[in-house]
Amino acid sequence: MILKGKPVIDSLNEELKKESERLRSSGVIPALAIVRVGENADDMAYERSAEKCCAAAGVDVKKYLFPADARNEELLSAVRGISADEKIHGALILRPLPPQIDDRAVCRALAPEKDVDGITEYSMAGLYSNKNVGFAPCTAEACICMLKHYGIETAGKRAVVVGRSFVVGKPAAMMLLAENATVTICHTKTNGLADICREADILIVAAGHAKLIAEGCFAPGQTIIDVGINIDSNGNICGDVDFDRACGTVSAITPVPGGIGRVTTAVLAKHVIEACAKSVKK
Ligand code: NAD
Repeated sequence: MILKGKPVIDSLNEELKKESERLRSSGVIPALAIVRVGENADDMAYERSAEKCCAAAGVDVKKYLFPADARNEELLSAVRGISADEKIHGALILRPLPPQIDDRAVCRALAPEKDVDGITEYSMAGLYSNKNVGFAPCTAEACICMLKHYGIETAGKRAVVVGRSFVVGKPAAMMLLAENATVTICHTKTNGLADICREADILIVAAGHAKLIAEGCFAPGQTIIDVGINIDSNGNICGDVDFDRACGTVSAITPVPGGIGRVTTAVLAKHVIEACAKSVKK
């Protein structure tokens, strides 16, 4: 089974549109602030995708664009402004930020309730304490949404996550744990990666290396979620998993492109609408 992102997005959007219409009819317009410093091509591609998903879900977008040499104080002041602005319900700060910007200070300047991509300590604490406060990083949540949409059971299953970043690997592992999977996290110092991958019922790969997971890593019955976005030697986008080889063995796999990437921005729109609904309740 090819686990395409589009059906997941369509089903999410149906719910989101209803909720954003309800909020709009009560006079509140869900709105996301996008903060970008410089003109990194990956950031700009992600920004376009976020704008598209927000438009489809009924979320307004306000952009805060800075030159690559923006001063730390300028950025901090913009993020403080976003935190105080009642008409903005969530912020996407495109990272990594340039070296002159204090990333930690920027994250701390963001109001926790507007942290729709899980970058603040508040959101991280929520994730690790399983207390349902804050928001998970969108990509990690997209992995779980994908599994749920396609009815892939996690409870009691052996899950392996390749990658331990704060953006994908660690939060995905915590979310799988919360879904009652038995989780192993692999990283650059892991010995016997292929053997560990072969034991997985669910394998989530977020390493950032084209076709790292190849022959010898697969087993029948597996579900593979490939988060990686890489450019192969022919200039084409590919994931961290050797898709063609995997297809011969595993039960289900996400394609790259057309898999997790597009679900991530739909989850972002979902978080903004949830943040907006929470602000109305308050
Ligand atoms: P990162 O570089 O911060 O982390 C990569 C992790 O993979 C590290 O923890 C590292 O230990 C591990 N790793 C790297 N090489 C390895 C190896 N050979 N064996 C075992 N572990 C290894 O990257 P990230 O931000 O977590 O992103 C990972 C990938 O996911 C990238 O390709 C990125 O482009 C992609 N990504 C996609 C989305 C999306 O929306 N689809 C979002 C974020 C990241």
